[in-house]
Amino acid sequence: MRFDLSTFQFVDSARAPDALAVVAADRSLTWAQLRDEAVAWAGQAREHGAAPDVPVAIYGHKEASFFVAMVGALLIGAPFVPVDTIYPPERLRRIVEIVRAAAVYDAAAQGFEPGDGAELAERGLAYVMFTSGSTGDPKGVQIGRESVGLLGDWMLGSFGLGDAPVFMNQAPFSFDLSMYEVFATLAAGGTCVLNSREQIGAAATWMARLADNGISVWVSTPSFAHQQLANRDFSPATLPTLRTFLFCGEPLPAALAKKLRQRFPDAVILNTYGPTEATVATTWIEITDAVLAAHDPLPVGYAKPDCELRVQDGEICIVGEHVMRGYLNRPDLNEAKLFVTEDGRRGFRTGDLGQMEADGLLFCRGRMDDQIKLNGYRIELAEIDEALHGLPGVQGGACAVLRRPDGTAVRLIGFVAGGATGEADARFLQPDALSGWKDRLALRLPPYMVPSELVACPALPMSNNHKIDRKKLLDIYAAIPA
Ligand code: AMP
Repeated sequence: MRFDLSTFQFVDSARAPDALAVVAADRSLTWAQLRDEAVAWAGQAREHGAAPDVPVAIYGHKEASFFVAMVGALLIGAPFVPVDTIYPPERLRRIVEIVRAAAVYDAAAQGFEPGDGAELAERGLAYVMFTSGSTGDPKGVQIGRESVGLLGDWMLGSFGLGDAPVFMNQAPFSFDLSMYEVFATLAAGGTCVLNSREQIGAAATWMARLADNGISVWVSTPSFAHQQLANRDFSPATLPTLRTFLFCGEPLPAALAKKLRQRFPDAVILNTYGPTEATVATTWIEITDAVLAAHDPLPVGYAKPDCELRVQDGEICIVGEHVMRGYLNRPDLNEAKLFVTEDGRRGFRTGDLGQMEADGLLFCRGRMDDQIKLNGYRIELAEIDEALHGLPGVQGGACAVLRRPDGTAVRLIGFVAGGATGEADARFLQPDALSGWKDRLALRLPPYMVPSELVACPALPMSNNHKIDRKKLLDIYAAIPA
């Protein structure tokens, strides 16, 4: 059985209905069970106000019911809004308010909480994915049903995943990387093995779990795969069915690709690139030994079918039907980031610096703005600035990023002005000053956005155009006496 991404219906029902569709952290579902539960969920969701074009939020972490709810929402045309529990309740509340969800489905409790539910202006969306926003609020990326159909076609047509692939899923469903596994599992009639943070944390048993389920496609950020290299069971001996590494979300370091080629010589490594705003990914390339010999840094690949790439004034722009239908209720951002081509197609200005070779091979050369990736998570620094500014008694807040020599972000440092110290020199906050600042920030930010240290300074350094001077923040940090 499989789920067709043009009709959004289960099809081929007679074919292997007992094959596994979802192996979740809590329980497993065959394809027949997934279909029956999704149909039943759709009925319940309707009773709670979900309807075509009326969104429903799904809150949870790697439960089978989370997957069921996404499919149920697709069945009835209600755009789903996936929110992992890595987001604090305050952020969930804000997202539900912004999107005006009919209800929040709690996947662990398998129950619905009512929302104020309203039809979206955009019709025929598959999902709305919230990502870090520079105003202090997350921003909703609206992805149409046509776009996920194209994603499925591309993956099945170009990635060589084989029949009934078994996907290793670990990225939270609130990170669009995970939509790779969701939609390819559905389109191919495959299996999605969901791994919770707790399961991944228990490294020895976790690899055995992946082996028992015969995973064939590893989907993650490069950072996540890098962390696994320390585990000796992360090897073909333990994972003999693993054939493909599918990477996206941040630069793939050549050194990591080389180590993976050594450890998994028979596996295919795919580097893919693209923002959430263009439905998971837009370019791809197989990282062969020849590519490794020719390039460091590695290219992000060639445009996927039905997509046009342009590098305009150094910025990567993406044109195609897989470009989002805009940020929800953000005409200002849509005006700045979206455009329509001469032949009427949707285009998106990514904010990524790029370079394209004559044959269309694309290289990504970093960002034009204050958006960063930390361990694969997408972060707008201004959103953290806002949260720091909201701490009691401070007159200004900003953050800066510590990076390795190769440019990889490793840590966030927070800075506050007019904090409790009032001294002329910058210094780390004493334990009693602004006590509980991490807990306060964690009420509105996910843990990966909470800085690891806080520095108080008399005033925040500004650049000539009255923006926070993040480079000078790093100078302040470096000058703090040990
Ligand atoms: P997200 O929306 O979380 O997928 O983040 C998208 C951003 O991550 C892109 O705009 C790039 O800045 C970066 N990115 C994604 N994939 C890659 C890649 N393969 N290489 C370099 N940067 C990437």
